[in-house]
Amino acid sequence: MAGLTCAIESSEVGRKVVLVERGPCIGGRIVQMHKYFPKLCPPTCGFEINLKRIRKNRNIDVLTLSKVEKVTGKKGNYEVTIRQLPRLVNDNCTACGECEKVCPVTRSDDFNYGLSETKAIYLPHQMAYPMRFAIDGNVCDRCGACVKACKYEAIDLEMEARTHTVRVPSIVVATGWKPYDASKIDNLKYGIYKDIVTNVQFERMAALNGPTKGKILRPSDNKEPNSVIFVQCAGSRDENHLPYCSAVCCLASMKHATYIREQNPNANAYIFYIDIRTPGVYEDFYTKVSQNPGVTFIKGKVADITQNEEGRLVARAEDVLSGKQTSQTADLIVLACGMVPEGCDNLPVDVDQNGFMIAGDLYPVGVAKRPIDVSGTTQDATAAALLAMQKP
Ligand SMILES: Cc1cc2nc3c(=O)[nH]c(=O)nc-3n(C[C@H](O)[C@H](O)[C@H](O)COP(=O)(O)OP(=O)(O)OC[C@H]3O[C@@H](n4cnc5c(N)ncnc54)[C@H](O)[C@@H]3O)c2cc1C
Repeated sequence: MAGLTCAIESSEVGRKVVLVERGPCIGGRIVQMHKYFPKLCPPTCGFEINLKRIRKNRNIDVLTLSKVEKVTGKKGNYEVTIRQLPRLVNDNCTACGECEKVCPVTRSDDFNYGLSETKAIYLPHQMAYPMRFAIDGNVCDRCGACVKACKYEAIDLEMEARTHTVRVPSIVVATGWKPYDASKIDNLKYGIYKDIVTNVQFERMAALNGPTKGKILRPSDNKEPNSVIFVQCAGSRDENHLPYCSAVCCLASMKHATYIREQNPNANAYIFYIDIRTPGVYEDFYTKVSQNPGVTFIKGKVADITQNEEGRLVARAEDVLSGKQTSQTADLIVLACGMVPEGCDNLPVDVDQNGFMIAGDLYPVGVAKRPIDVSGTTQDATAAALLAMQKP
């Protein structure tokens, strides 16, 4: 969202932009969301508008599967070397999917955070831009079945990596975030019990184009959960993991509680929190969700998760408001893990103690700079576009 917005804003006033994306398509993590807080609208609407703006724009060069390898020069005149990995699928691809049907190799689907698989030749998602398949060169066995199945001659297993060198006056860094690795938080038992998932996985479980076509089901038995616990600050605000607050996790879990209640009006959501953080206008969203009779907020940090004889999960915490130990049983547990900066390899930038980029000659935007929501990200991106267009 940060890079896309900044690229569109600057190109629409006539600047040439090179958008460098390491993945097979643009859009970042927002396209993996089911809905956006606070309006609970699907991110695909806004994304589609951005895609329209990109499609009719001749000033943006989109380089997917690409990363910056080297930057030389200085503000006003940089030379940037970009390495582009081979997609192994060319522009002839119509995304018809015949190749996928015959591919014998599977891989974990990173778009669904590992909750499903794709073939080695895959379409990143239904709204991918560019709308083209890609081959995961790390798993493809070069059997050639897809080449035979493709009537458009779109598959080129000999395609090689390319290097692009561009001269630009400014560089904007919008490398975003990845979820904190929940398996590092021993007491929360992620990876030990199947019915403990992370917030980003839960988002995919609710998404209509997700692994369960939008039906929220327990991974262990594919049954609809009647009760779900949300564990806030899973690793966040904790010196042993992420010392900072990710600013969006409370809102994300409240949004997730609405997903549950919408699908199953009899289901209960329990949100265990240290402090609720819903600044500014988001307070209204908190008020609305807390009035939902099926959503319970418990002020207490979850200390431990176990499984009872019936196979249900039990979270234990100290309820700070009553001063008593409390435990809650549920069918599914969602860990609200924070956002970790992706980092800016090969770029001449300084980062703070948590890895977020500090503004200097290069302009950081979005979560590359600090944890922030989508609306803050787009404001940031527009401001960076203005800065990047000025003469040094
Ligand atoms: C569970 C959860 C739910 C959320 N729900 C909401 C919500 O409902 N509403 C809301 O406002 N906010 C929400 N957020 C926050 C939102 O996801 C972020 O604000 C948003 O993703 C920030 O966008 P970004 O462009 O900075 O980063 P990203 O979305 O991470 O995009 C970064 C892009 O850079 C690419 N990239 C990374 N490194 C490189 C590299 N070295 N070279 C080239 N490309 C690279 C990535 O592939 C990606 O495409 C949620 C966050 C979480 C954790």
